[in-house]
Amino acid sequence: MCAALDRIEFGGATVDEALGALSGHRPALHEGHRTYVEHAVRQYTSQGPDAFVPVQPYWAVRKDNGRRWELYAWWRRYQSADGTVREYRRLRHGDARASSRGEIAVAAYTAAFGADAAWPRRWNQEFVIHGSPGPVARVRIIEIGLGDGSRTVQFDGTAEEAKAYYEAHGGPHVRNVVRGGPERPGAACFDCKQFTGCEAVPRSPGVLALPSRRLPLRKVSISDLRYHAACPAQSLLRSLHLPKTGEYSDAAKLGQAVHGWVEALHRRTGPIPCTRGDMPPPGENWTAGRWRVPDEEAETGRAMLLQHVDSCPFQLPEAIERVECEPTRVFHDTAAQALVVAKPDLLYREDGSWVWRELKTTRTPARIGKDPLDAYPQLALAVVLLAQGELGGDPSGSRVELEVLRPDGSDPHVIDPMDAERLAKARAVLRRYAGPWREDRAWEARPGGHCHQCPVSRWCPSAQAPADAEEKA
Ligand SMILES: [Zn+2]
Repeated sequence: MCAALDRIEFGGATVDEALGALSGHRPALHEGHRTYVEHAVRQYTSQGPDAFVPVQPYWAVRKDNGRRWELYAWWRRYQSADGTVREYRRLRHGDARASSRGEIAVAAYTAAFGADAAWPRRWNQEFVIHGSPGPVARVRIIEIGLGDGSRTVQFDGTAEEAKAYYEAHGGPHVRNVVRGGPERPGAACFDCKQFTGCEAVPRSPGVLALPSRRLPLRKVSISDLRYHAACPAQSLLRSLHLPKTGEYSDAAKLGQAVHGWVEALHRRTGPIPCTRGDMPPPGENWTAGRWRVPDEEAETGRAMLLQHVDSCPFQLPEAIERVECEPTRVFHDTAAQALVVAKPDLLYREDGSWVWRELKTTRTPARIGKDPLDAYPQLALAVVLLAQGELGGDPSGSRVELEVLRPDGSDPHVIDPMDAERLAKARAVLRRYAGPWREDRAWEARPGGHCHQCPVSRWCPSAQAPADAEEKA
């Protein structure tokens, strides 16, 4: 994306030439990724005549106060012909989070006072600064949504206002970043330059139950594996964070709302057992925000929540030593060469052993005979992690709990990770999902009826066309 824009803005290429050069990209771009980049580049370059000129050097501010500091932002840079108005444009993909005030402040400050600077040869070296900055009268920070072409002004002010904004929001942000703090391992470890030497990510060979291979590291969650099993192209395009369309059905939103309600109750210090009085009152739509659903759906959700009262894991709170709601745990499977990201709904420690709990909501009646390890592969990962003692504690007392909430009942399942048959089954399930994913290099689409519900099918040239030919743009 940025390479194509650089060709247009600094290499004199036309849009078609820059997009044509994508076919020479090595490794080759996936057809879905390429479709998205074409859309994004055309969207970006068609935003009308522009009095601003693109700027290639970074804008860097260097400070010396015993330690050497360099501030800069990596967003795209533009300025007026006389250089007195400078603008950063942040290009935003589908579900990227919005910039924080701290980030905006650093960008505004470096636009106002930064000198032109070249990127150092190595990332840990200093910028090569050319001359001193000219006077800048005005600074703007704009965020551009590449999916929908939206444009949001995040800052627009004089250099003095940029300085004041930096003092209010940028200074604290920078001090926070520099001070650091304890490691918080998560999905971001994958992109971290310190990953190989970091002690905070446990080395856990074999958690995906694959044979040892010498392969480049990949990042994976159980959701990724489920998407891959349905359609490899979908899993790749989701992992690239492309803009999504219609990601959540009402049933999926309701599931999220129920999860959120239970999670909030379980976060109360105690822990405190959930009661009927903690559940939403009848006849009131209790869902809100992103997970708002129609009234009758909310009523169904309330019925599900009432079923949780009898299966709440905190009914004997004295025995529980520690509770973690929706924690993120990462493990480096050094055999499969995968950074495995796990997000249990709930972890709690009871008598020195960890219990891993998953909560599911469904409207369909209980299915007798279906092995929960087949139905929910995240349980298989939980079984293997607990059996290998990857969370610490005493594995012999560990268990995996599944709570399935229906409007008219709930089904509890308990799996003992020390049960040899269950452990063998869990490993077989993981191999079935992770094996084809680890080998995959082509990410081919597997088109079918599911394309109509796929949130990234808009970018997939192989997607099955809707039967009624009604395009949802
Ligand atoms: Zn509860």
